[in-house]
Amino acid sequence: MHAPFHATVLTLYPEMFPGTLGQSLAGEALANGLWRLDIKQIRDHGTGRHRVVDDTPAGGGVGMVLKADVVAAAIDAVSPMDDPRPRLLMSPRGRPFRQEDARALAAGPGVVIVCGRFEGVDERVIAGRGLEEVSIGDYVLSGGEIAAQVILDACVRLIPGVMGKPGSAFEESHENGLLEYPHYTRPREWEGLSIPEVLLSGDHAKIAQWRRDQAIKITGERRPEILREHKLKP
Ligand code: SAH
Repeated sequence: MHAPFHATVLTLYPEMFPGTLGQSLAGEALANGLWRLDIKQIRDHGTGRHRVVDDTPAGGGVGMVLKADVVAAAIDAVSPMDDPRPRLLMSPRGRPFRQEDARALAAGPGVVIVCGRFEGVDERVIAGRGLEEVSIGDYVLSGGEIAAQVILDACVRLIPGVMGKPGSAFEESHENGLLEYPHYTRPREWEGLSIPEVLLSGDHAKIAQWRRDQAIKITGERRPEILREHKLKP
């Protein structure tokens, strides 16, 4: 078997890890060696007795900027030039992270994730170390740690052997260009609401058709741009 998915996270707050990744599906997979997580303190590469990692922005303005030399040293210590793993910088300016990105990452050797803090990182280290800026959504977090956990959670559940049934990941929202159909479970009636009759019919072809119709309807109502992108009709 080839080496398991290897994630390395660079952060000023290593205590925030494994965080949610230590529980449930991802946590069990981590304990079982289905993936590997290394957390590295950026401050270990800070300069001087005080291990300084940031400085004031050139040109003035509020906040502090993570220094290029410090971030580069932290990266170089864990990821050699020929490291095949992509290097991501968590950033609200980045490319929006999507299910297809999770799938591509999960199929590869792993990932190196740099968590920003303060106003962000010196622009020069982004190009200098080939960092891909990735965003988890159009809002601003106070640091990249939660974003890194979001991305790793999305990847880890796709690693073979992590989820129970191999098929279950493929039916989900965003996997086939649609949002998922509604779910129901017992009791058959709850607060006067019934489970749709078709789901109790035992007719698998009819159920599959109903689910597909529902998925298209819900996607059309909530995210019409997804339907357009996949050229599906509501
Ligand atoms: N001044 C920056 C925001 C800095 S927020 C700007 O306006 O673009 C501090 C750090 O939080 C960032 O460096 C980044 O690592 C992380 N972060 C904030 N929002 C994020 C998002 N939507 N996705 C991923 N990372 C984010």
